[in-house]
Amino acid sequence: MIIRKEDGAGGKYMVEFLRKHVISKFNSKVGEISLVDMDDSTDFHPDYILTTDSYVVDPPVFPGGSIGSLAICGTSNDLSVLGAKPSFLSLSLILQDGFPVDTLEKILHDMEFWLKEVGANIITGDTKVVESNIGIAVNTSGVGVRNGYLDRNLEVVREYRDYPYRWVRDSGLSEGDAIIISGGIAEHGAAIMASREGMEFEMNVESDAYPVWLFLGRALETGGITAMKDPTRGGIAATLNEMAEKSKVGILVEEEKIPLREDVKSFCDVLGLDPLIMANEGKVVMGVVQERAEEVLKTLRKAGQKDAEVVGYATSEFQEVVIETLIGTKKILPSPMADPIPRVC
Ligand code: MG
Repeated sequence: MIIRKEDGAGGKYMVEFLRKHVISKFNSKVGEISLVDMDDSTDFHPDYILTTDSYVVDPPVFPGGSIGSLAICGTSNDLSVLGAKPSFLSLSLILQDGFPVDTLEKILHDMEFWLKEVGANIITGDTKVVESNIGIAVNTSGVGVRNGYLDRNLEVVREYRDYPYRWVRDSGLSEGDAIIISGGIAEHGAAIMASREGMEFEMNVESDAYPVWLFLGRALETGGITAMKDPTRGGIAATLNEMAEKSKVGILVEEEKIPLREDVKSFCDVLGLDPLIMANEGKVVMGVVQERAEEVLKTLRKAGQKDAEVVGYATSEFQEVVIETLIGTKKILPSPMADPIPRVC
């Protein structure tokens, strides 16, 4: 047996592979969250969570960002969606012998920029140079810290129901929760494809790489958020399915409510790509207590997420993710087996 591309492509195949070969060997639990939960981060102390992520995107510099912006935004986003403030990061660089220093400088500059925006620091790191044909690979781990916004959010949620978690979990949905998407989908996947097809100048698509903490703080302070996830590989289809499955609810989504920029939509149409399964790097899918949904939506829009939208709700009537299409028919939206675009992040 050998490793296949799909074993690390963010879909059902990857989950199967990880359960069988990796997670079964390291099933330790230190805090409330364990490895087997496969949430975006894990707590190891009442006030701290840890995550790690590797980036192998090809090309390493693309419209709207670089592997550097992905590393900082992606890792800090996996902390932010549990309600933690991204604070301390590690940085490992694996560089190919012959990699241009000016490209590396551009990548490091992007890291520096986003670290400053988020208010996080790189405090430890490592560098290796190899002869294999990888260009650049980056690994960043991150520590997120409990904060007043998170505690306020949990307090508000508990005004409406029992919420057994100390962090915002991807399994926290209950029947009736509104589902909000924070902005236009598929932009990162589209930017990578445009770049590979040499279409980045005619198609005005840019990666959405962005640290979601910059708008989540205020949304948490408004309060009522019961579940969150950042829809990266596998797009919102993978994310909605994961949240529904872990929360043991179904989700009904209206297709026409899903934020999708017109130019991204036409680009996907041209290449025959499905925006529902394409990667995002600066968006959040969240569940919100019904009574708080309008307030949270308003806060998100005020915080710059103008296209944020309530796209549906969690239900106990079925267990799947069901999408009501533009023409009014309902169909099951399955989780993708793998992301359609290899090396997208
Ligand atoms: Mg994530």
